[in-house]
Order: sequence, then structure tokens, then C-alpha cells
Amino acid sequence: MHECGFVAGMDGNLSVRLDSRRVLVTPTSMCKSSMRPADLVIVDIDGRKLAGRRNVSSEIGMHLEIYNLRRDVRGIVHAHPPIATGFAASGMGLTQPLVCELVVGLGCVPLARYGTPGTTELADALKPLIPDYDAILMANHGVVAYGHDLLHAYMKMETVEHFAKVALVAHLLGHEQPLSEEDIGKLLVSRKIYEGAKSAASMPPAPHNGSGTWQRRPRADVREVRRKTAAHWNSRSPR
Ligand SMILES: [Zn+2]
Repeated sequence: MHECGFVAGMDGNLSVRLDSRRVLVTPTSMCKSSMRPADLVIVDIDGRKLAGRRNVSSEIGMHLEIYNLRRDVRGIVHAHPPIATGFAASGMGLTQPLVCELVVGLGCVPLARYGTPGTTELADALKPLIPDYDAILMANHGVVAYGHDLLHAYMKMETVEHFAKVALVAHLLGHEQPLSEEDIGKLLVSRKIYEGAKSAASMPPAPHNGSGTWQRRPRADVREVRRKTAAHWNSRSPR
């Protein structure tokens, strides 16, 4: 996550459900790039420390809430990937069916309302969305993704950031062409074959808090973006 630029400094946290009563979690106040196995902490399902010399991540409450609501989940990653977090900081979920792979692999990525990090507010904000989605944007904060193991949780985080880049470019170009309901229906059939019960996100996209949909830019605004883009490339072309 650190090498991909999904976290800066001591941001982010990861966890794995070891068994029905123990969770392995990253420690608080530690850069993920310099973390070693001995730095990890084991807590029980109520967040009490069972093993480890460091203190557990301050976001343990969010992790435990997800494990509590999703028995199928065994790995969780939380990070602040810059493009997806930009959407979250702009009050936008990733809810447009712009790319077929996302419909099959993840479904839409809704936006949860803001909650102060390290408090129960954060878990409370995510709670209504956790049962139906495998990745959630956290308003003015970042992204959380989870799966049946840690690697799949991480790959969902990568997918969210990749899709955020695609959605941003499509939006800047001013010609988003979302898939039709008919095409989404066909993708959902193939999704059942490939993903089965491992993926929970509902489709078609259903923004929960009304702020997850794009507002199409006014035409003049789109023309301005194109003019600036053209000027940018012209200034870089060899003379
Ligand atoms: Zn965070």
C-alpha cells in the first residue's frame, strides 16, 4: 500500500481474522513500509489486546464492526488512495457503471458520511453500507475494502483507486457513457459465475445518501477543460 502511494506517513491499517475470537491488526503510529511481523498486534473480538508489544490501530473499531456484520470477511484494508479519496472529499461515490470489469468484480462503491477517525462515529457511518458493499468511500477521509482474505481485500482497494482514475478522466472529457441497464444485466449473469457469493455489492448502482451521483458539468465548463488540456499538450510538443 505504501509503495503504491495509497498511504502516506503512518496512514492506513490492515487486519486479518485469525479465528472466531482473534484478529491480527497493524499497530498504531507506524509507517506501513517499515512494519515487521513482530510489530503486529492480536486482539479479541471486543478489541482487547491479547498479544503484541505495540498498541493496536486506533481504527480497530471499524475493523471489528466489519467482521461482526460480515461473517464471510477475513481480511480488511483501509487506506487513503489520492484519487478515490478526492472523490470522497468531494462528496461523490463511485456509483456510475462506466467500466464492465468493475460491475463484475466489485459493483458500485458508495460514499459513507463523515465520522471522526478513532471514534465510534466512523463505524456508525459505515454500518448501513457494510452488509451490501465490499468497498466503501469514507467522506473526507479515505477508503475501506474487505474480502475473504487479505489479498482480495487489497486487490479491491487497487480496483477502487484504478476505477477512480478512469471515472475522473471520463468526467474531465465530459462524455461519460454509462453502461445500459441491459448491459449491466448481462454482466450480472457473468458475475454470478465468476464471483459467486464472494462479492456482495449490489448492482445496479444505488447511492445511499443521495450524494453519490455525478453532476454533469455545464457545457462552458467542459469547453474550458478541453481548452486547458489542448494548451497543456501544445506547450509540451516538440518545436
Ligand atoms: Zn484513515
